[in-house]
Amino acid sequence: MTNLPSLDEIRRAPKVLLHDHLDGGLRPSTIIDIARETGYSGLPSTDTDNLRQWFQEASDSGSLERYLETFDHTVAVMQTPEALRRVAFEAGEDLALDGVVYAEIRYAPEQHTEGGLTLDQVVEAVLEGFRDAEAKYGIRVGTLLTAMRHAARSQEIAELAIRYRDQGVVGFDIAGAEAGYPPTRHLDAFEYLQRENSHFTIHAGEAFGLPSIWQAIQWCGADRLGHGVRIIDDIEVPGGGEPIRLGRLAAYVRDKRIPLEMCPTSNLQTGAAKSISEHPIGLLRKLNFRVTVNTDNRLMSGTSVSQEFAKLVEAFGYGWDDLQWFTVNAMKSAFIPFDERLALINGVIKPGFAQLKWAVGRP
Ligand SMILES: [Zn+2]
Repeated sequence: MTNLPSLDEIRRAPKVLLHDHLDGGLRPSTIIDIARETGYSGLPSTDTDNLRQWFQEASDSGSLERYLETFDHTVAVMQTPEALRRVAFEAGEDLALDGVVYAEIRYAPEQHTEGGLTLDQVVEAVLEGFRDAEAKYGIRVGTLLTAMRHAARSQEIAELAIRYRDQGVVGFDIAGAEAGYPPTRHLDAFEYLQRENSHFTIHAGEAFGLPSIWQAIQWCGADRLGHGVRIIDDIEVPGGGEPIRLGRLAAYVRDKRIPLEMCPTSNLQTGAAKSISEHPIGLLRKLNFRVTVNTDNRLMSGTSVSQEFAKLVEAFGYGWDDLQWFTVNAMKSAFIPFDERLALINGVIKPGFAQLKWAVGRP
């Protein structure tokens, strides 16, 4: 087992991240700073370590109410242009220092207008922060604008995404409670984006089952699936040497190479999987679905892309070739133009992994 990639080595590999929430990745010290500057007094603690611990305990508690409360605090300190720009810059910085070379970071603009900002001002402040990180670290950051599935602003947010498509917004997403809020409620927004030749992903099949995934793909036309873990419900593993059988939806997802934005640690916290070693990602990788590895909420889950990889290495014995496969999958599935994806795969990712494999002397 000593031959497996270590966390330190994984940090040096060029990595790609497709599913990361801006309001789920703040530094505890930044939350405290901004709360002080803006007069927000609702934080459960103003000590950095205690606050970090509070976020992780609330997220691990198994209570959806406590988990959602964590976002009340992060969103509360993201209501001014300065705060948004800082949080965006630091997200890019933290990812770059973890070895991420390309990231798509998402957030819901409608949650950041309580201090009087317009949707456009929110988007511009965040884009500036990402530009700052790109200039300093050479990381590339694309924005995904999220609409909340329980709300009724998806058309407006989709139009916002199109308005900023040439300034760094690369796609659209919907998020929020799946049960009771099927993606088809937002069909107008998805059809608009398709007519605009744009890209979108949909949070689907995290807690809720196959109907949610089926709707996201076959009714809404999603390019990618946020999580998609429940696709496992359409796969039969009989055992005893019998072949594994894919249902029609699972076969479609695999055949069409629809990317799955999997977030293992986050799934443990929300109950979508029991342990990393029992997480469907193991089987889906074996069956060659287009699996990608993501963080979801770095603060709440106390994680990073490197740590997600390290946990998978520990659970499934993955080597460098597997980690490169996940990374190339993610880069192929990004929403930036094909030639730019190819340039990153051939110019950065493959040479980076080749150098690491050579340096550590094993595949
Ligand atoms: Zn998510």
